[in-house]
Amino acid sequence: MATLEIRDLHVSVGDGEETKEILRGVDLTVKAGETHAIMGPNGSGKSTLAYAIAGHPKYTITSGSVTLDGEDVLEMSVDERARAGLFLAMQYPVEVPGVSVSNFLRSAVTAVRGEAPKLREFSKEMKAAMDALSIDPAFAQRSLNEGFSGGEKKRHEILQLEMLKPKIAVLDETDSGLDVDALKVVSEGVNRFSGTGDTGVLLITHYTRILRYVKPDFVHVFAGGRVVAQGGPELAEELENEGYEKYVKAGV
Ligand code: ADP
Ligand code: MG
Ligand code: MG
Repeated sequence: MATLEIRDLHVSVGDGEETKEILRGVDLTVKAGETHAIMGPNGSGKSTLAYAIAGHPKYTITSGSVTLDGEDVLEMSVDERARAGLFLAMQYPVEVPGVSVSNFLRSAVTAVRGEAPKLREFSKEMKAAMDALSIDPAFAQRSLNEGFSGGEKKRHEILQLEMLKPKIAVLDETDSGLDVDALKVVSEGVNRFSGTGDTGVLLITHYTRILRYVKPDFVHVFAGGRVVAQGGPELAEELENEGYEKYVKAGV
C-alpha cells in the first residue's frame, strides 16, 4: 500500500540575505485510502508544503525527507514524481494557450503510464470521466486553464485525478472560489477516488466548508510552518466554530 512519509521537513525561500525559513519541521504520513486535511491560517505554509513535495525550484529543502514507498521523492525530477504516483494540484494552475485540455490529459496520462494510450480508448475514458463530473464535452477542446472559472479549474483537477489515478494526491485549496454545486461535484470526485482505497489524499484548505462533503480521517492544523495540532474530523468542526486564533499563537 502506498505511503507518503514527510519527516522533519524544513523549507526555505529566497536566497542570500533574503532567505526565509517557511516550513520548520513538518512530520506527516499519508497512506493510500486515507484522507488527510491540512488546515491553517493564510501564510502558515500550506502551499509551501505542496510546492516542496512537487519539486518547485523556488523552494529549498534545507533538511528532512520526503519518501514515497521508501523512495526518495526529493531526488526525483518533477516528471519522475508524477510517474511514481504523486499528483499535485496547485492553488494557482498555469494557463497554457494553444494546448487543449484533451491534449494535456493525453500527455499527462502518457507520462504517468509510460506509454501513449490508444486514441479511441483514451477518448472514451476521458468522456466517461467528464460525464461523471458534469463537465461539458466542449471543455476538452479549450486551452488549458485559459479563462477557466474557479469551478472549471477545480473540475479539471478532479478530471486529471480520475484519469491519472495517482497513489497520493495533494490538492491545494481545491475548494476556494467554488459555488455549492461545484463544491459538491469536486467533493464527490475526491470521495470517489479516495473510496477506492488506492489513493491517499492530502487536502489543503483554509476553509472548513469542503469538509462538510469530504470527511477526512485525519486533520492537521498548520501554524507558523509546522503542525501544531492533530485529530480527527471533530477538529475541523472545532475550527469551524472557533477559528484558528489559539493555534496561531501556538505556531509562533
Ligand atoms: P499558505 O498557503 O498557508 O497561505 P504559503 O505557503 O503560501 O502559505 O506562504 C507561507 C509564507 O511563505 C508566507 O509568509 C509567504 O509570504 C511566504 N512565501 C511563500 N512563497 C514565497 C516565495 N516564493 N517567496 C517569498 N515568500 C514566500
Ligand atoms: Mg526540526
Ligand atoms: Mg496557500
